[in-house]
Amino acid sequence: MSLVSLRRPSLLAGALASALLLGACAPMAPNATAPASPPPQAALPVDAALRAQTQAEVGPYLKTLETLVGIESGSRDLEGLRQLAGTVAERLRQAGMQVETRPTRAPGFHPQLKGAELGSMVYATRKGTGAKKVLLIAHMDTVYPRGMGAKQPFRIDGDRAYGLGIADDKQGVALILHVVELLARNGFNDYAELGVLINGDEEVGSPGSGPFLTELGGAYDAVFSFEGGGSATARGGDMVRLATSSIAIVEMKVTGKASHAGAAPEQGRNALYELAHQMLKSRQFGDPAKGLQINWTVANAGNSRNVIPAEATAIADVRSLTNADLDLMEASLKKSIEDKLIPDTKIDLSFYRSRPAFVSNAASRALAQHATGLYGGLGMPLEIRERATGGGTDAAFAGLRPRGGVLESFGLRGFGAHSNDDEYVLVSNVGPRLYLAARMVMDTGRGQIGW
Ligand SMILES: [Zn+2]
Repeated sequence: MSLVSLRRPSLLAGALASALLLGACAPMAPNATAPASPPPQAALPVDAALRAQTQAEVGPYLKTLETLVGIESGSRDLEGLRQLAGTVAERLRQAGMQVETRPTRAPGFHPQLKGAELGSMVYATRKGTGAKKVLLIAHMDTVYPRGMGAKQPFRIDGDRAYGLGIADDKQGVALILHVVELLARNGFNDYAELGVLINGDEEVGSPGSGPFLTELGGAYDAVFSFEGGGSATARGGDMVRLATSSIAIVEMKVTGKASHAGAAPEQGRNALYELAHQMLKSRQFGDPAKGLQINWTVANAGNSRNVIPAEATAIADVRSLTNADLDLMEASLKKSIEDKLIPDTKIDLSFYRSRPAFVSNAASRALAQHATGLYGGLGMPLEIRERATGGGTDAAFAGLRPRGGVLESFGLRGFGAHSNDDEYVLVSNVGPRLYLAARMVMDTGRGQIGW
């Protein structure tokens, strides 16, 4: 995200940065309390020819990744996003897909973006002769403002490919391009329809593309989202995800009364005190065991030391595992501000749901099971992550009113998402992940996976 373009009072930039840095697809933390995943499916026979093809694809894939990383595309960098959308659209067109670019805007009521133009979506489709409709999604925008590319150029060091936004989420965009091209080269069209949606506003909460993602989720039998597929660190491993957190942004504004802090403080109504009181009280509404969190991340009050502050504002980041818990948090906060420390103050509180929770259904679990069988065929474990770890993704929008199943984390194992100097993906993960994605499209398309 390019913070500059949104800069109003510094409060906003900080709040937006914290909400969005935490908001979108944050790196996955190991999760000791995740409920037991369903038993992995028995290993499925390997398509040796396809496995050889996906391994041979690693070189061209890295070339694509270098091209995508080389085009800076922060969420507020409309020029960079336009250029990247053009590159992606052309590749999909050359792979025989019908391609359209759909402009997007934030809703007028968005607390920060207020109707702003956002990065366009690239939507591509290809009709087939098979049973099921399969949609592949990834995002091309990053959290990095223009100019940071020079600090983190694409480079390969051993088994690591480094670059700005490479893990989040340019690796996913490149995987989708190569899966589509590989299937086209093989003449595979045993699906009812293959769809691709690459959006450009994910890192600001997908306010423009979210509704369309929900619409597509209701029209496709399976949606595969290509966020990172696990941590590259020793503790990590390959995984797919069946849950992501919901996100809300809370803004609280307290209006009190100014007075001379030395001569007549009692004539004032200290808005900062009231704000602090309300923030501290609200902590009780969090419940880590339920994955329900509220964190006040930015506050602002007062301009001069000798004046009782008449205004104080703060922004909080709220996460939950279910959308119902967001409702609970909103109701608790709205009730709580009725009880004030300083009676004559006025409190305004807005609760903006920026991203729903992704909650899996039977179809999603069947897809995850099948994926473990395919990876098992390669002799590799694939964890099914059933509990959200704090990050939110677009799988949630696609899974809001699904026709079938949604599965997250089809991307590469990586590290350092949203970091200033250390973002990379594992080169050795490219072949197996390309194979997994291609097989999942094939097996789902032909209706081989039941739910
Ligand atoms: Zn992401």
